[in-house]
Amino acid sequence: MSLNINSLLIHGGIDGDETTGAVNVPIYQTSTYKQDGLGKDRGWEYSRTGNPTRAALEKLIADLEQGKYGLAFASGLAAISTVLSLFKSGDKLVVSDNIYGGTFRILDNVFKNFGITYEIVNTSDLEKTEKAITDDVKAVYVESPANPLLTVTDIETVAKIAHKHDKLLIVDNTFLTPYLQRPLTLGADIVIHSGTKYLGGHSDTVSGQVVVNDKALADRLYYLQNAIGGVLGPWDSFLVIRGIKTLGVRMDRHVANAGKIAKWLESSEYVSKVYYPGLESDPGYEVQKKQADGAGAMISFVLDEKYDYRKFFENLKLITLAESLGGVESLVCHPATMTHAAIPADIRKKVGIVDELIRFSVGIEDADDLIEDLKQAIEASKKG
Ligand SMILES: *Cc1c(COP(=O)(O)O)cnc(C)c1O
Repeated sequence: MSLNINSLLIHGGIDGDETTGAVNVPIYQTSTYKQDGLGKDRGWEYSRTGNPTRAALEKLIADLEQGKYGLAFASGLAAISTVLSLFKSGDKLVVSDNIYGGTFRILDNVFKNFGITYEIVNTSDLEKTEKAITDDVKAVYVESPANPLLTVTDIETVAKIAHKHDKLLIVDNTFLTPYLQRPLTLGADIVIHSGTKYLGGHSDTVSGQVVVNDKALADRLYYLQNAIGGVLGPWDSFLVIRGIKTLGVRMDRHVANAGKIAKWLESSEYVSKVYYPGLESDPGYEVQKKQADGAGAMISFVLDEKYDYRKFFENLKLITLAESLGGVESLVCHPATMTHAAIPADIRKKVGIVDELIRFSVGIEDADDLIEDLKQAIEASKKG
């Protein structure tokens, strides 16, 4: 029976435990497995190579992304570094111009040292993207909506452009999750997640996931996962599976809250700009509507210069100043000094990550309470 996503969230992957009937996948807290004789294992050898709890999550994330092969890692960046290890010295990547700061850092300060280079391009500009695909480019790497300015890239069209030139398309789907967007169905070759965010959903565990459809690509990634070793432990695999069960109900509330707050911000005199692809005024609105089932719950806004952004953060009562996103609780951060501090100031400015920019991960609290908190914190931070 083919299940819709709301059922897959609960029953996808490995549904419970066959041996005991436990409705939850057990936490196989073991590093190794008894072999019944030389060359006679029972399908499991060593937990870096494979663990049943991790395997359940790996199958679940593949099912949710409508892909064939899933992999789970110790963090989003462990997933990203494993994917980047597909490439070799002399290879180049075309990368979205606003991406997660840690992704930029690992490209610029780790993989560049191994001779893998990158070019930063505004991938919402299709012409520029195609122009950047030179012979040495092996893949296009995008986030959509991208971090922190929520720039939307047309995944289907960029996939066509990449494939026309025989390149891979890698999509970081952290901000939307498969509940709202399934990049493989739009033509992407590799989907990456920081499961630390919405998939886990409760700000209590760090993880990363990768999903692909191509068998050869999957084989190479499983090889790299085992060879590099940044795997997700059984306990954390269990936590992510548990988080995913409520992903649908959480995302519905996240998106409803974000829509309401974005509209309120846009109509207020407190901000000079709101970035949210669910607003009709947003340049990414049409593409977002076409390729996803919602605009997500990340909003960025530029506080009007009448207000002191430093004071704003201190005045918040309900909303927490912290890095990260995607948990049930609302978090705000200051990209210029926090999540995107690794990006040089000139690049930051060029792409619009100004000092007054505030990134808001809208939680599932009451939307009116969140608006009330924003309002009082902004008013209390008026300059002069
Ligand atoms: C957080 C994040 C990452 C990195 O994931 P970790 O789990 O923190 O290693 C990658 N991409 C995006 C979009 C993220 O938000």
